[in-house]
Amino acid sequence: MRENSFRRIIQNFIMNMESIQNTLTPESSFALTEPCVFLRIGMIRADFFETPRAYAMENGQPYILYNTGDVDETNEFTMEKDTKVGTKVIYHVFGLIDEEPWTDEEMERLDVLIKMLFVFNGRSRLMIANYKLTFYDQDMQVFNLKYFFKTIAELIAKNEITQYTAMYINLKRFSAVNLQLGKKIGNVVMRGFVKHIDMLTGDDGFVARIGGDNFAVLCKQELTDTILEALSGTAVTFDEKTGDRILVSACAGVYVIDGRLPVRSPDDVMDGIGISIAAAKARTKHDFAFFSEEMLERNKQQLMVSSMFPNALENEEFLVYYQPKVSTETYRIVGAEALCRWNHEGKLIPPAEFIPVLERGIDICKLDFYMLDHVCRDIRRWLDEGKNVVKVSVNFSRRHLSDMDLLEHIVEIIDRNNVPHDFIEIELTETTTDVEFKDLRRVLSGLRDTGISTSVDDFGVGYSSLTLIKDLPWDVMKIDRSLLPQEGDSDKKKSVMLKYVVGMAAEIGLQCVAEGVETIEQEELLKDYSCSIIQGFYFDKPLPVTEYETRLDNYSYKK
Ligand code: C2E
Ligand code: MG
Ligand code: MG
Repeated sequence: MRENSFRRIIQNFIMNMESIQNTLTPESSFALTEPCVFLRIGMIRADFFETPRAYAMENGQPYILYNTGDVDETNEFTMEKDTKVGTKVIYHVFGLIDEEPWTDEEMERLDVLIKMLFVFNGRSRLMIANYKLTFYDQDMQVFNLKYFFKTIAELIAKNEITQYTAMYINLKRFSAVNLQLGKKIGNVVMRGFVKHIDMLTGDDGFVARIGGDNFAVLCKQELTDTILEALSGTAVTFDEKTGDRILVSACAGVYVIDGRLPVRSPDDVMDGIGISIAAAKARTKHDFAFFSEEMLERNKQQLMVSSMFPNALENEEFLVYYQPKVSTETYRIVGAEALCRWNHEGKLIPPAEFIPVLERGIDICKLDFYMLDHVCRDIRRWLDEGKNVVKVSVNFSRRHLSDMDLLEHIVEIIDRNNVPHDFIEIELTETTTDVEFKDLRRVLSGLRDTGISTSVDDFGVGYSSLTLIKDLPWDVMKIDRSLLPQEGDSDKKKSVMLKYVVGMAAEIGLQCVAEGVETIEQEELLKDYSCSIIQGFYFDKPLPVTEYETRLDNYSYKK
């Protein structure tokens, strides 16, 4: 009779355990109650040992699976089980207070019950391990991108996503941290930083690793500012003993999901933070960029540019416009700059709308070679027509600098068109890194050796470095319009700087060209400072080729 009822109790127990997601939580009490009452059990505790060392140190992870509160600690039944993966578990079963010790028959049944419990608990642990493998980044001890997507999908389904902010964060200068402290400590620092951010996100948010030093953050909207503050600089201790710390910061693309744009899937959120981190990285002054409708629009436009570019190049939709450079001594044309225009479906698109997009990849290089080729074709034709041909400068993106074959490629294009090298000048902008500096030196020296001149473009924008001018073999310095005093400028600094930049260029043997000259006052000032070549609307805008050709026929700019 009792045997029968025990069998039924065990059957119930199995059925109930099957329905429990995680049998390692007090949730399993509900399935355990019946057998435990039957066997006069007060408490069941399972201690898990992850490693033999943890076992030797008696450092187990305890799980209370059942507890009545009326426990007789002197009446204890224990069972030790080894798992196939080298971990160990010890079950401690305690009797109820004020009860007789278990009989032999009860002991046998306890044995059966605990063996079954072990099977269920083992399965749960496997599921947890599997979950961790699927949704957890073991290195950083935070969730992974899969979990980020899953959570967002759940929040969208519950209509709660508009309470949240999502961010894409990228740690700043982390390769330098790795170099300075070594990769191992670098990892400790990274973990410390993301754990701190993770903690700040509170109960409803978390950090998830995307890969490398990129992470995603989800947090309640009211926490946005707190998180951003931490991202802009948090001291992380990497050596507990010495207390050594390092300041870590991150740039972030931030999407405050306010519902103004529809969020239908996790991809919409991912797109938002992806677009805004790209904007954040492109910025020099701010580390954070907030996702907005305009940003989405701009991104669409950029995607369109990239996707249409190959066809446009093939169909020769890009036109060369020429902007004359004029001598203020003779008022004659002495050179020109080739500037690109995109003739798309009858509309002329200015470079600002497509060059920055192409510069993100290597498409810009194809465009620059195309421009050089078309300029050479024009020059060849003008030479054949007996025109008064002047040197044309062609813009080359910094993207070319790492191309080891750049020089050969440039020479090949010029020679193929049978154009003398001294009709071509290559314009390059300044560089900021040491690596680029080396590349730049190699390219410039090579060009000089082949008789092609070079100019440093936009001097005065950004961190114009005197070393860059002094140590590299440039031929021409193009002074950016931002160095020119504008009408109504009361500040004397600009004209002082202009004067000395022009003077310095002349003294070290560089030809000076002032760009963006619009007024007679600017022209006169430049003349005063002995800068005699001027390019700007004051004389001519960039001109379509047929109009430019008229400037090659003894045209005078004298006003
Ligand atoms: P950039 O090389 O500094 O070219 C000078 C820019 O200043 C041109 O703008 C020109 O139209 C403009 N400009 C000339 N005179 C004046 C003036 O008096 N006032 C004002 N406000 N602006 C003046 P554009 O043609 O829009 O080109 C913009 C930039 O796009 C260029 O700056 C250059 O960096 C880039 N770019 C143009 N064509 C090419 C190309 O074929 N390859 C590459 N890599 N970049 C190009
Ligand atoms: Mg230029
Ligand atoms: Mg320029």
